[in-house]
Parts: sequence; C-alpha cells; structure tokens
Amino acid sequence: MKTKIILAFATGFTLCAGLFTWMAVAPSLGDSSPVEALSEQDVYYPGSEDLAPDEMRIVACGTGMPNARPKQAAACFLVELGNGDKFIFDIGSGSAERISAMKIPYDYLDKVFIGHLHSDHFGDLGDLWIGGVIGNRIKPLRVWGPSGHKPEFGTKYALDRMQEMYTWDSGSRLGNVDIRGQVLEVTEFDYKAVNKVIYNENGVTIRSIPAIHALDGPVSFILEWNGLKFAYSSDTFPNQWWIEHTKGCDIAIHECFIPPEDLVRKQKWTPAAALNVGTQVHTSPAQFGKVMSDIKPRLAVGYHFFNDFDTLPNVTKGVRKTYDGPLALATDYMVFNVTKDDIKVRMAVIDEDIWPQPAVGKKLPPDRSKRIGFSEFIKGGRVPYKNVVDEIYSEINKKYGTNIPVPGE
Ligand SMILES: [Zn+2]
Ligand SMILES: [Zn+2]
Repeated sequence: MKTKIILAFATGFTLCAGLFTWMAVAPSLGDSSPVEALSEQDVYYPGSEDLAPDEMRIVACGTGMPNARPKQAAACFLVELGNGDKFIFDIGSGSAERISAMKIPYDYLDKVFIGHLHSDHFGDLGDLWIGGVIGNRIKPLRVWGPSGHKPEFGTKYALDRMQEMYTWDSGSRLGNVDIRGQVLEVTEFDYKAVNKVIYNENGVTIRSIPAIHALDGPVSFILEWNGLKFAYSSDTFPNQWWIEHTKGCDIAIHECFIPPEDLVRKQKWTPAAALNVGTQVHTSPAQFGKVMSDIKPRLAVGYHFFNDFDTLPNVTKGVRKTYDGPLALATDYMVFNVTKDDIKVRMAVIDEDIWPQPAVGKKLPPDRSKRIGFSEFIKGGRVPYKNVVDEIYSEINKKYGTNIPVPGE
C-alpha cells in the first residue's frame, strides 16, 4: 500500500511538472504556425543561392574510383566564382550528369581542365561536348590538358581522336541544330612546366605543376582569384611541386586512395597489386595525411575512394595517423563555400528530374544546306504517316503562332 501511494504521488508530480514545462514553452492558443521559409539551409539546393562577390563554391561532381557507380562518379570538381566564372577540373566517367544537376546553362560550362588522360578523369568529356550542344550551348567548349612524353600521349592527340570518334554523331547534327557549340578548342601545355600560368582571364589565374602518376604527363592545378587559392591534385604520388606550391592554400583537394587492405578485402586484389596501386601509383590515406601536414591548407579534402560506411573509418584512421587539421573526406555532391573568413561544407540535394537550362544567347536556325541527308535507298523506306504528321505540324503552328510547312517528300 505504501508503495502504491508513493507511486501515485510520484506520477502526479511528474504530470504536474510536465504540464508546467509544456505551459512554459507552448504557444498560446490562437497563435498561427510560422509560414516563412527558413533563412538558412543545412543543404545546398542547386540554383537556389546567390554566390557573394568574394565567394568561391566548389561542388564535388565525381569523387570515386575508376569504375563509376550510382553513388559516385569518377573524378570531377566544379568551381564557381563570385565573378560568375565557372571551371571544371577533370570530367571523369559518370560526372556529366552530376554537372547537369547543378542547373547551370551549358554556355557557362565552357572551360575544362584535365589533369591526365585516364578515363576516370576525362571519360565524360565527349558527353559534355556533344550533350552540351543538345543542351543549348552555343559557344565553343574550351579544354586545357597536358602534353605527354611523346605527341601521341598528349591531350591534343586524344581530343583530335575523340572528335574523329564522334564523326557520325557530329555529322548527324549538321543542318539539324545550331552547331556553334560543336567547336572544341584545345590548349595543350607542357606537363613539365612548374607553376606556369596556363590560364589568365578576368582576374583568375590557373597554374599547372607536374604530378607523378602512372606515366609522364599528369599535372595538378592551382587556381587563384580574389585572394583565394584552390589546389586540385587530380592523381599523384606525393611530390615536391605540390608541397612547395600549394602551401597554406585555402582548399586543397588531393587524391586519397582506398587503403591497400580494402583493395584486397573489397576488390579481391592480391596484396602485391594493392600495395603497388594503393601506395605507389596513388596516394594512400596515411600518405595523404602527411602531405596535408606539410602544406597546412585551411581545409584538406580527400577524394578518389569509395566512401562507404565500411571504408570511411579505415580511410579516416589512415589520414589521422599523420594529419590532425581540418578535413573533409569527399563524396559526390559535397559542396564547399569558401570565403576569406569561412569554409562551409554541406551536401547538395539534387532534382533528379533536371532538364538542360535554356541557351544564354539566341540560338540560330540550323543551316539546312549543311545537311548530309539520306541515301535514296534509306529514304525509300520511310513510312510517312502523312495525316498524323500533318496534324502535329498544324497543332504546333497553332499553339506557337508559326507557319512551319511539313517537309515535302
Ligand atoms: Zn589516373
Ligand atoms: Zn584517378
């Protein structure tokens, strides 16, 4: 009985205390719920935020390994500056769709810097080039990339062949769309040049330094604008040029490959292959940490590993053996807003139903005289369904006030 009374007393006390607490925090009856948008989001919705005139925004559009997967495309980082300029550093397999998710008109995505010619660093260039034309780009696509130890290992050789590879694709568009965006302007620079300016426009300077990876040819990039310094390794073994020229930069994005034991465990490689690729061809997490301890950036960003619940702890452990500074281990759609006072790291939330943005300038009607056309044999096989097509033309002409004739047979 005694116990019951104590329990009843205790319960009553709890109820009373709960009621007083509720009365203290609850709005009085009659107050309406707030309807205003939140002033600040914990995530980035592309196309929804102004970029301040002194601000740099970097979006990880590819952070994974050579085999692109739904969660992570291969290497690609988009840099947007407060002056309106935008730059793409590497454009690895699968990254073109991530770039499109940023809702930027293709006319502004016209500058690509390729660190080396592995497919996981330029595999989606053809997609940006051709896809950009269909997506309303009416300006040439400009590409910068390194030379090689022989001309056929250089960027120009590769991109000349890429254009040849797309001969049918390019030919099919002649006379059907505005093809001004089909022009590819390639600037090949000396891979051995150390900290030499390869781009200098509108207050933005980009330099290249040699990288050490697989063969002669790879480079890393350093972008400087408005007192901010961005460094991007592409792929490299730790090297003297990176350590000398990226010291104290605002944001240092450097490869941080999957640790050798995870290459054995997850990818079934032999220990010898895992050690060679994981520590000699690439930079392991512990080597990455050492590099960052040497250059001390405001923020170190590691990429180039499958960032999963069962790999991240091991990668973090490796980095933290040798580096205790500010760190982000990237995955796709990680966003970095950099100013002189602050570096904010968030994730982007994307709209999967994205469409290409409209052209910035006026598109020209296609020059029909350039059309290659069909052979008589193929033309002879057409089944025109004239009534159906006549109706489509007439509906469109009515809707848009045009007078486009149905092409004659
Ligand atoms: Zn590579
Ligand atoms: Zn790579």
